[in-house]
Amino acid sequence: MKIAIDGPGGAGKSTLSKKLAKYFNLVYIDTGAMYRAAGLACVRKGINIKEQPTEAVKIVNASDIDLLPGDTGQKIMLNGEDVTGLIRTPEISMAASDVSAIPEVRIRLVEMQRKLAETKSVIMDGRDIGTYVLPDAPIKIFLTASPEERAKRRYLELTERGDACKYEDVLAELLIRDKNDSTRAFSPLKQAEDSILVDTSEMNFEESLDYLIKIIQERL
Ligand code: C5P
Repeated sequence: MKIAIDGPGGAGKSTLSKKLAKYFNLVYIDTGAMYRAAGLACVRKGINIKEQPTEAVKIVNASDIDLLPGDTGQKIMLNGEDVTGLIRTPEISMAASDVSAIPEVRIRLVEMQRKLAETKSVIMDGRDIGTYVLPDAPIKIFLTASPEERAKRRYLELTERGDACKYEDVLAELLIRDKNDSTRAFSPLKQAEDSILVDTSEMNFEESLDYLIKIIQERL
């Protein structure tokens, strides 16, 4: 079983995918965490990813990025260090978006993602899972919500975690990432033709989860 969940940032992909993984007994694979770890590696080296893409490729190629799926959530490792708690900041979100536009970086990470899905039943979330990483996945969902609603959810998530931020900044950052992700030349964020569009703007978390469970059950 393979389920591909794609969509823009803040649509609830990871929170919903985690719950769906539990419900349907699948391994959850958060591909965004891999791009975030790659972005963190570049930030730590102090480079400007957009202006120094060749350097970025070198840094990413020299980094060990591992995703360790587990029952209590997954860990993302960078060169043997658990960086799970360090990759959700606005700075690393932008770095992930910048580094993910580099084809060489994508090719390497996509290879790892396909390997992870090879021998397991998975639910994988990202931007290009249904279009590029797992084009044969029997169930594909494109999860979205209005930019304002997505920014509101991200803002609440960040403030609940104690990160000081302004709603306007969160919305602006989200719009830049939307644009970056959907206009990059290689493997952009795009709805797969055979995916089911789910807009959760008017649904709360429980409603979204129930709706997705129903959609998946109907196709099993
Ligand atoms: O999903 P998340 O917001 O954690 O992803 C961070 C960034 O990684 C995205 O903005 C996107 O640029 C990139 N990404 C990607 N392809 C994926 C997953 C994430 O380009 N499959």
